[in-house]
Amino acid sequence: MKIMAVNAGSSSIKFQLLDMPSEKVIASGVMERIGLPEGIFTIKYDGKKEETHPVLKDHAVGVELLLKSLIEKGILKDLKEINGVGHRIVQGGEYFKDSTLVDEEVVKKISDLADLAPLHNPAHIIGIRAFQKALPNVPEVVVFDTVFHQTMAEEAYMYATPYEWYTKYGIRKYGAHGTSHQYVSHRCAEIMGKDVKDTKIIVCHLGNGASICAVEGGKCKDTSMGLTPLEGIPMGTRSGNIDPTVVSFIATHENKTASEVVNELNKKSGYLGMSGRSNDARDVTAGMEDGDHRCKLTFDVQAKRIVDYIASYYVYMGGCDAICFTAGMGENLIHLRKNILNRLGVLGVKLDEEANNVRAEEREITTKDSKIRAFIIPTNEEVMIARDVVRVAHLG
Ligand code: AMP
Repeated sequence: MKIMAVNAGSSSIKFQLLDMPSEKVIASGVMERIGLPEGIFTIKYDGKKEETHPVLKDHAVGVELLLKSLIEKGILKDLKEINGVGHRIVQGGEYFKDSTLVDEEVVKKISDLADLAPLHNPAHIIGIRAFQKALPNVPEVVVFDTVFHQTMAEEAYMYATPYEWYTKYGIRKYGAHGTSHQYVSHRCAEIMGKDVKDTKIIVCHLGNGASICAVEGGKCKDTSMGLTPLEGIPMGTRSGNIDPTVVSFIATHENKTASEVVNELNKKSGYLGMSGRSNDARDVTAGMEDGDHRCKLTFDVQAKRIVDYIASYYVYMGGCDAICFTAGMGENLIHLRKNILNRLGVLGVKLDEEANNVRAEEREITTKDSKIRAFIIPTNEEVMIARDVVRVAHLG
């Protein structure tokens, strides 16, 4: 059986075609710069990687081209071979407690929730519509980034703001990267040879967007991202937590609106703002190696904040069996993992420097006598999406 896992953004569509239940990737790729004069279409299959530059007027054109290419390249003989489509959705609010089959009511609800994810949810709907048009008889399932975090207790998700903000507008913590945190924590339990129900795991999803998650018994107990992905640790371009007063201070001094300042906290802060170089960790690493103080400081500030969360989750869960690193930086940045784990010596964490000296490889990176084990576990959100399509659409 073949399942298409889709992640539609405002100007891009990432996809992976998987064979299930083997979970083997048949083809993967991305369509970028949708709506611009020249798009980019990258597709990997059979050990090949091809890039073309078609005009992708809108998402529907992108999806049509993708499906046509699957046939033309001999990846599929017939589109009927696609048994189901799964869409990653950033915000499911409190309404969605599980992945679900797409119908008109579900689409309306995702649209209603756009207030909480204005950049993402509308783009996801465009992606859903494009696949509905191209594959009208194939079941579509939506998989929410927020669902995994719906197990947080009230004390963990509520803000100490006027209670009416919650009842009127749904202002609370929702979290993000749920499919990744779920995949990594469950995989970690498997590697440790334990039933996930008996584990306490802290997952550090460190990509351009980044969040930390406390997973107890396979369920989310707390997470660093909040109402939106701005809360938590510093990221590629996001500040993470700051004193909210900074918003009115900068608005007054630079004659800007609150939204304009929040936009700068989302797009011009984090690695980019602190280092003054780039949001890409590779450039900031190069700067640090050249002796640039601000680049080194960028990593130190982030590592310190990550450790603040790890320490707090260690206490909240009453211990921790394992710390996992995943996503672009978590998987690849040797010096950042070292910076973080060396700060945790007080908890009995002992880094194995040699084991840590790898990129994007699933492995343990602490010594045998470390009180908390640490692992690199490359994330796999697409597999989680495909598994949910099979389960929810009863394709198994
Ligand atoms: P993601 O959002 O998960 O794709 O992660 C993006 C971040 O991972 C960027 O800051 C990249 O610099 C970083 N990254 C990706 N690959 C590497 C690599 N091979 N070495 C160092 N950093 C990397």
